[in-house]
Amino acid sequence: MTTAALIVAAGRGHRLGGPRPKQYLPLGGEPILARTLGVFVAHADVDQVLAVIAPDDVSLYDGLGVASRKLLAPVPGGATRQASVHQGLLALAAKGCTRVLIHDGARPFIAPELVSACLAALSDAPGAIAAIPVTDTLKVADASGRIARTLDRTSLWRAQTPQAFRLPEILAAHERAAAAGLADFTDDAAVAEWAGIPVALVAGSPANIKITTAEDLKMAEATLAGPGGPDIRVGQGYDIHQLVPGDHVWLCGVKIPHEQTLDGHSDADVGLHALTDALLGAIADADIGTHFRNTDPRWRGAASHLFLEDAARRVRAIGGRILNVDITLLCEAPKISPHRDAMRARIAEVLTLDVGRVSIKATTMETLGAIGRREGIAALATATVMIG
Ligand code: MG
Repeated sequence: MTTAALIVAAGRGHRLGGPRPKQYLPLGGEPILARTLGVFVAHADVDQVLAVIAPDDVSLYDGLGVASRKLLAPVPGGATRQASVHQGLLALAAKGCTRVLIHDGARPFIAPELVSACLAALSDAPGAIAAIPVTDTLKVADASGRIARTLDRTSLWRAQTPQAFRLPEILAAHERAAAAGLADFTDDAAVAEWAGIPVALVAGSPANIKITTAEDLKMAEATLAGPGGPDIRVGQGYDIHQLVPGDHVWLCGVKIPHEQTLDGHSDADVGLHALTDALLGAIADADIGTHFRNTDPRWRGAASHLFLEDAARRVRAIGGRILNVDITLLCEAPKISPHRDAMRARIAEVLTLDVGRVSIKATTMETLGAIGRREGIAALATATVMIG
């Protein structure tokens, strides 16, 4: 017993538009037909795979890059789907094949299990096709486009492929149909039915779609991509400024009386500087020093919320939304906790963000190092941004 897969790929695919027939269009970076052929080539119960293609498509077919000892040279198709299958069946009969799976080239999501199920059903019937019960209610329209009646759907199935047959029977049916001048059967089960060959129904799969329209192709791409999830970006920032004699510090947008002050070109708010860099980091847009040069007189003594506002604007400009920000201040003094709520409120205001999404933490350095010696204050920040 030799089993062949006959892949019908001679259609021109006009409904998808463009010069290239749909079965040669890429799906997830691989031509649709290459995917379909690949399933049958890899199937353990399939011995030979034959594609029927349009004579004009030889170079497109050669470009698919499917290589397998099972793959036969393609056969040119005929004027109709029925005629194309007929040509393929003749070629396979000449190779001594005894069973055939006829499958649409534009159904790349065929599961190997469904191929097996169709072949298994051939032990009880000369024909077996994948099909799914109709779940929508079907209406018959009259000539004016109004409903004439409703069909009873309980016995209705939608035919898919593969359609499996004992090869001598289906070839004989095609020969008879062609001899009778019948040329417009749209699937092989219909040819078999006309010829009186019993055909069993095998439970198909809704995923086994035929890619016919541009929308089908889009859905197929989405199926391949799987659940993508949101585009979440994380950025981090760090800053440190020296403490010098003075009477206040600006930290996270809040002015706090202190016996020292932070030295810097702007107001030296390390918290807002670190957070600005975290936002810029999340969107990969350089850093605060690139956008606001510390040699630019415009920023001398500037309030640092200007920098933070600019970073938030840059996030929004690429369709981003800030999800949360988290800052850790590293200092021995002043004490941060009395000012934490004011800092969170100020940052929430500058970023137009719910205060529940703004976190301020602080830690001392346990007198270790320069910060521990009260020579400076540093800040770490993290920001999460969702794009799109
Ligand atoms: Mg700074």
